[in-house]
Amino acid sequence: MQIQGIRKVTMSNIQKKTDVILIGAGVMSATLGSLLKTLAPEWEIKVFEKLGNAGEESSNEWNNAGTGHSALCELNYTSEKSDGSIDISKAIKINEQFQLSRQFWSYLVNSNLIRRPQDFIMPIPHMSFVQGEKNVTFLKKRFKTLSNNPLFKGMEFSDDPEKLKEWIPLIMEGRTSNEPIAATKIDSGTDVNFGALTRMLFDHLKSKNVEINYKHRVKDIKRADGSWEVKVQDIDSGKIEYHTAKFVFIGGGGGSLPLLQKTGIPESKHIGGFPVSGLFMVCNNPEVARQHHAKVYGKAKIGAPPMSVPHLDTRYIAGKKTLLFGPFAGFSPKFLKTGSNLDLIGSVKLNNVFTMLSAGVKQMALTKYLIQQVMLSNEKRMEELREFIPNAKSEDWDLVVAGQRVQVIKDTEAGGRGTLQFGTEVVTAADGSIAALLGASPGASTAVYVMLDVLEKCFPEQMKVWQPKIKEMIPSYGVSLVENADLFREIYTSTARTLGLTLARVGLG
Ligand SMILES: Cc1cc2nc3c(=O)[nH]c(=O)nc-3n(C[C@H](O)[C@H](O)[C@H](O)COP(=O)(O)OP(=O)(O)OC[C@H]3O[C@@H](n4cnc5c(N)ncnc54)[C@H](O)[C@@H]3O)c2cc1C
Repeated sequence: MQIQGIRKVTMSNIQKKTDVILIGAGVMSATLGSLLKTLAPEWEIKVFEKLGNAGEESSNEWNNAGTGHSALCELNYTSEKSDGSIDISKAIKINEQFQLSRQFWSYLVNSNLIRRPQDFIMPIPHMSFVQGEKNVTFLKKRFKTLSNNPLFKGMEFSDDPEKLKEWIPLIMEGRTSNEPIAATKIDSGTDVNFGALTRMLFDHLKSKNVEINYKHRVKDIKRADGSWEVKVQDIDSGKIEYHTAKFVFIGGGGGSLPLLQKTGIPESKHIGGFPVSGLFMVCNNPEVARQHHAKVYGKAKIGAPPMSVPHLDTRYIAGKKTLLFGPFAGFSPKFLKTGSNLDLIGSVKLNNVFTMLSAGVKQMALTKYLIQQVMLSNEKRMEELREFIPNAKSEDWDLVVAGQRVQVIKDTEAGGRGTLQFGTEVVTAADGSIAALLGASPGASTAVYVMLDVLEKCFPEQMKVWQPKIKEMIPSYGVSLVENADLFREIYTSTARTLGLTLARVGLG
């Protein structure tokens, strides 16, 4: 994709031309905009966001779990192979991707482009907690495999109730069952306030003259003379505007799929989306919240999708330490929390109807699981919480509605027609002039990795020129950290210092 820099012509509609349009003011557009402003500062960027502020949908601190996903505690990133050994390849990938985010955020802090990292990232131990003999055996094997790897150094394992009482007193108090239990703990985990980060990045973009248009809804996207014409409605006045750009990024979160479909590009066909909503329980008793200091991930129930792994999380929101448990899944036909009940049905097109129907037939277990989740009473939710906190009292916990995730459904070689995907998908036009981000997991934590992927796919020529700057900002770009343990130690230490995170890994303290 070639962008020459904006042409200044005096015709009346020309001021609506720009180099880059970012749709949506979530963490993904914020990250792409920040990368582009460093790599091509002369490019003009416009942002259109339908809501009144940045980071109000999935990226908002109350709409996601705030886990800096680096596979330190999420059991679904490591699987048991048929020979009984543990496959950690996915965990390595996710950890390496999170290191890219840490480096870019550190670069922004060191360059004074964003300030006060403690307002968006805090150190917190990441723990996995399991019950039952089979799960304990799995966790022990997982621990042995991971703790030999440089990326996971410093991880501890214990099945000793006395040690566990030290680590997780709230979880151990009142536990009477004789069932074996075990946990792993690693102190290098993080809690990330993605809402605060998104707002900081948009403040930075505004200071670099990026035009950010809130309360502007994108209604249509069409090809026009080698560019893209984006039809935008000013929500307050109802006025329609047309803006053109050589490159458009559709960062609409759950709203990306309908916008991608409007582009009509061949790559947008045969893709569907299935919304799964999230609910958390939030502790309203500061005395209870004070007794817990970790993100503790359990094991997903059989038949449950990976994003519904239960976890008990210490969170830092608006400078306050809070305790959240969940997520519980729910069903809503909306693609965004602020979306419409017609979103799901409206996304069914002639080109994806069979893909969608096939997914419906294949995903009976998920459908059953979602129906069960929707039917859960508050007392049933409390029962699930009591698997983590045996003494939990109903009056100490309130329910909050989190964000919507739209899982991608597409036809794949491995899974056949209508396969449900749990990761993120970058869809780009063959000429790299438009890109859309679909899917939800591992999500915001890997925003830098995913946006670098967008740049590689859409700007292969410029990437050759941008390489040195990217390497300056993100030294591990293009390098396997697992194979370069010295570089890992170096960047881990320097990013921990800049971001105020823990150095307490083996050999790094
Ligand atoms: C319950 C839950 C828990 C999660 N937990 C984690 C976690 O612990 N760690 C993690 O890393 N990730 C987590 N995620 C995923 C993470 O929240 C998302 O991956 C990330 O926030 C997506 O960012 P985004 O910018 O793509 O979308 P969003 O933040 O949703 O932003 C999209 C923006 O586009 C706007 N928009 C949409 N359509 C239009 C339109 N037509 N015109 C103009 N604007 C439009 C929306 O209003 C919105 O502001 C979680 C998600 C959920 C739902």
